Amino acid sequence: PEAAREQAARTYELDRKHVFHSWSAQAALKPMVVTAAQGCYLWDGDGNRLLDFSSQMVNTNIGHQHPKVVAAIQAQAAQLCTVAPAHATAARSEAARLIAERTPGDLDRIFFTNGGADAVEHAVRMARLHTGRPKVLARYRSYHGGTDTAVNLTGDPRRWPNDHGTAGIVHFFGPFLYRSRFHASDEAQECERALEHLEQTIIFEGPSTIAAIILESVPGTAGIMVPPPGYLAGVRELCDRYGIVFIADEVMCGFGRTGKWFAIENFAGVVPDLISFAKGVNSGYVPLGGVAISPRIAATFDDRAYPGGLTYSGHPLATAAAAATITAMAEERIVENAAQIGATVLGPGLRELAERHPSIGDVRGLGVFWALELVRDRETREPLAPYGGTSQAMIDTVAAAKAAGLLLFVNFNRLHVVPPCTITEAEAKEGLALLDQALTVADGYLE
Ligand code: PLP
Repeated sequence: PEAAREQAARTYELDRKHVFHSWSAQAALKPMVVTAAQGCYLWDGDGNRLLDFSSQMVNTNIGHQHPKVVAAIQAQAAQLCTVAPAHATAARSEAARLIAERTPGDLDRIFFTNGGADAVEHAVRMARLHTGRPKVLARYRSYHGGTDTAVNLTGDPRRWPNDHGTAGIVHFFGPFLYRSRFHASDEAQECERALEHLEQTIIFEGPSTIAAIILESVPGTAGIMVPPPGYLAGVRELCDRYGIVFIADEVMCGFGRTGKWFAIENFAGVVPDLISFAKGVNSGYVPLGGVAISPRIAATFDDRAYPGGLTYSGHPLATAAAAATITAMAEERIVENAAQIGATVLGPGLRELAERHPSIGDVRGLGVFWALELVRDRETREPLAPYGGTSQAMIDTVAAAKAAGLLLFVNFNRLHVVPPCTITEAEAKEGLALLDQALTVADGYLE
């Protein structure tokens, strides 16, 4: 243990000296050293075990170090580490088949990228070329990635410092009853008014100028607002009426997270034209993302070159990891487990916490995809941290969870409960008990 502690100290020191971190002011950073991970747990540099209710960046859907996925990566590395995207290779072909077999409707062609942001970039590029139109509509309260177009599509404050040069992106409000922009008092009203607002946005922007509408089927980082019944069907209908491509961004909500292979399957019969995916496709063991493409859009590039590509498109190690992940998830009924744990443990357990903790304003989610909206006052719904910021109350609550052995995903005034899809009932209950302790800290900040 002494040698391990020394190694962890050196890791930390070198990190602070040489590693430049994402989305952060560098000077005050204190990254946690992670030395090992297994299933739903990981270990920090001091040897503490933490229950991972964050799935890291909401990507380890199959849990850490799944033996079948590790073995597939090792076998692929021994056989063929890399090959140019222009060649055909077994791992890529198999991964494409396994994904195409699970995508909704007729989406059956897969373009592979290195991650989620470039999947979004390519989906938008395909939509613009297919329609010959320039604009894209995207939601406020959304996240689509950190590259130029993806961050400009993003509807959160990370866009603001990057808001330049990407012409033709227009934002609109989606349905979110708890903080309704439409003065709605129930889900049906919220749905109807949100669709009316979207149609007005299309009409005033000019339908003939709009290539695509991009939406997270269930928005993730922005707050896990499950759309009301009929909303996504309504978006599909507007896209059909105005000749607009419907892009479902399933980077975070896809591959089991909501208790279905794709989140859009929760809304029966809705088939988008393009799906961007990443994260859960191989749980991030090797970087991978992609776009699932409808035959209509794929046909645009039958006789005309698609102007885009990446050296590592369909990388053998990444696609071997994807094929093994999807196969193991199917064999071990991991998607079904996510649905079951959500319906029987996490949903009821979080609602029960809300009865006892006045700091919880709202509980939302499905599968292993849940958000707790923390508030100073349940009547006014004043958030426990401002939009785009944090607060001592949030910092202390998250620190208390971590000290108790629970790692959470945090955004502004929200705690997200997003464990691996493999989580057991006992682990879910253990996490809820730790969360219960931490929430007393949040309650302490209420007047
Ligand atoms: N789209 C959504 C919905 C996401 O949640 C994310 C990442 O969190 C991205 C796109 C970007 O993916 P990546 O970080 O792999 O580029």
